Amino acid sequence: MRIDVLTLFPEMCEGVFNASILGKAREKGLVTLNTVNFRDYSTNKHSTVDDYPYGGGGGMVLKPDPIFAAVEDVSAKAGTEGVVRSGQNVGSTESESSEGKPPRVILMCPQGERFSQTKAEELAEESHLIFICGHYEGYDERIREHLVTDELSIGDYVLTGGELPAMVVVDSVVRLLPGVLGNESSAVTDSFSTGLLEYPHYTRPAEFRGWKVPDVLISGHHANIEVWRREQALKRTLERRPDLLDSIELSEEEQKMLRRLKSEPL
Ligand code: SAM
Repeated sequence: MRIDVLTLFPEMCEGVFNASILGKAREKGLVTLNTVNFRDYSTNKHSTVDDYPYGGGGGMVLKPDPIFAAVEDVSAKAGTEGVVRSGQNVGSTESESSEGKPPRVILMCPQGERFSQTKAEELAEESHLIFICGHYEGYDERIREHLVTDELSIGDYVLTGGELPAMVVVDSVVRLLPGVLGNESSAVTDSFSTGLLEYPHYTRPAEFRGWKVPDVLISGHHANIEVWRREQALKRTLERRPDLLDSIELSEEEQKMLRRLKSEPL
């Protein structure tokens, strides 16, 4: 996978790209992580990328020309030119090779679709992602209308720029790529991947300040540990995110567990 992040502050992203699991994935060549300063695509003599809003009002608006030029250039360099807008390149046919497949062009904005694990899984199937990080008041609307395939928000609050939100999305996508996590199964049981919140974890010592690790976890009985974990995941989800239970298919045994958990005082 190749990821290009279009930003006015590449230094904000480089620290994230070089550290920890993303840094190792980059080093091993499992992903290409690239930052592009779209100010370099300004044709204006002062290299400006923003301008006053038509119609007046406060704040500056990001101009369309440098952002269109930057997206077109990184697509051409990656061999994925031919940007198709507004999700038309989503769900492309299976026969289409990932090489040359149009990129997903993702606009980070608080008005976008709320980012989720399901979306991370969908993006992890792509071969080229381009993120556009805004700043100031907003973007010229033609970027939204004619360039991007996705608009993503990381939550109902407003940050000063799109770099931190883009890093959130990049991190959650890259960790799903094959070979990136040491133990592949650790992403499989993660919260939301299973539809539930994850069960609780314990490590040594078996007793800390009088608080003991549940007996089952040190019993060595793998089948019982599995049942305990499933039940704990259900319990945690019921307590903290009961809304998730509406959209998950449970086995008969799990439904029984859930009925029992519901009848117990929380
Ligand atoms: N005036 C805009 C509005 O009301 O929708 C907010 C602009 S915000 C100050 C500047 C930039 O930060 C946005 O263009 C976007 O790239 C980024 N941003 C801020 N909050 C975000 C969020 N919750 N999710 C994704 N991006 C966000």
